[in-house]
Amino acid sequence: MNRKIKNIKLGIFLVAALIIIVPLAWFLFTRLEGEKPTIVLELPSAFISTSRDLTVSISDTKSGVRKMWISLVKDSKEITLVEEPFPSAGLFGPGEIREKTIRFSVDPRQLGLSDGKAILRMAVWDYSWRGWLNGNQTYIEKNITIDTRTPVIEIYSRAHNVRQGGAGLVIYRISEPCPKNGVYVGDQFFPGYAGLLNDQNVQVAFFALNYTQGPGTEIVVNATDRAGNNAKAGLNHYIRRKKFKKDTVNVSDKFLRRKMPEFSSDLSNDPKATLIDKFLYINRELRSVNYQKIRELCLNSDQALYWRGRFLRLPKSAPRAGFADQRTYTYKGRVIDHQVHLGVDLASTEHSPVPAANSGVVVFAEPLGIYGRTVFVDHGCGLFSMYSHLNHIGVKIGQKVAKGDILGRTGSTGLAGGDHLHFGILIHGTFVNPIEWWDAAWIKNNISSKIAGVKSRLGQE
Ligand SMILES: [Zn+2]
Repeated sequence: MNRKIKNIKLGIFLVAALIIIVPLAWFLFTRLEGEKPTIVLELPSAFISTSRDLTVSISDTKSGVRKMWISLVKDSKEITLVEEPFPSAGLFGPGEIREKTIRFSVDPRQLGLSDGKAILRMAVWDYSWRGWLNGNQTYIEKNITIDTRTPVIEIYSRAHNVRQGGAGLVIYRISEPCPKNGVYVGDQFFPGYAGLLNDQNVQVAFFALNYTQGPGTEIVVNATDRAGNNAKAGLNHYIRRKKFKKDTVNVSDKFLRRKMPEFSSDLSNDPKATLIDKFLYINRELRSVNYQKIRELCLNSDQALYWRGRFLRLPKSAPRAGFADQRTYTYKGRVIDHQVHLGVDLASTEHSPVPAANSGVVVFAEPLGIYGRTVFVDHGCGLFSMYSHLNHIGVKIGQKVAKGDILGRTGSTGLAGGDHLHFGILIHGTFVNPIEWWDAAWIKNNISSKIAGVKSRLGQE
């Protein structure tokens, strides 16, 4: 009997102990969790100039975040930028905040910091009872560079005489690396290329005046360093105006009936569309789509000067349409459209071999809307040549070609009336007058003598 009572008492005690101990153990177990909080700093560039807003995201999924601290160490001086406590859910509870995004700014001038290397230190603690109730801690450091100085641009090349629709070259030195540097011609940007001369800070930039940019166009060298400091240097230049020809293109039904089927995949199946509706769509919309493609293609150019000397013109050919001819299109005596012809048309015998005008790399070799079968050659540093209306393409993308290598044969694919080569030269996507590039004296005066002049100035042969 006595024994039975004893067992009952023990049972009650054990049940009571379980009711208290198990939750208590569970409570202690969760409050003593060892998972560290996380810190993610968004730092697109480690270079800081004037005031810079930064974003840091912290999180702790188990106990919640307790405290955040950020400081900046420069020349053994430490400045606290952020010190922020976060609330807890009661005395023994975890934190109320699991995730938080903190925005803070670093303003070197306001903080009285000079240029140079600095360290951004960041720590976050959670509401765990680990670390003698201080919580789990995560600490990270990021090296940054304070740079408040604008780069210095020194222009090395001289005598920048440019024609409307023509090209130019400027060589300049920047005092520090600048991820974006080049020439603005009006609002058109032409990037500089480094590594062509011994001094890595010397940049070579080919630029173009498009056919609409005459005297009065601003030409400015522009450089932005890694911290975002921007410098500009006006370029001493002279712009010669050029008058472009006017031309009339008569569109016949015979031409349309022969040509429009080639564009069937570009046209809608509207049964009401007349031949002339189709032509206008191709001459306007497809032309502009094709130009967008060309601009994209010319954004990436090799950092090299593959070419040398004057560019080759299609042998034994007669010029037809010229560069920037202002074309008026007529149909049955009525004016239907206006466009500008941004290349030179050269006619030789049918299916003539087309040589590469100069050395480079083939970057495009396929049909291109109004231009028909087309080849683009990258000559480096933003300079490209274009060969259109080909009957046959004999090269592949990525193929290196030397001046005179045969790219294909002339034809009349695309919006061409008869067999001819449409030849174009582009600088970073802007069409320029090919006549300059066929002229040995122009190349010498405007390109090669400038490069040679800077080489001798740098003591480079
Ligand atoms: Zn043409």
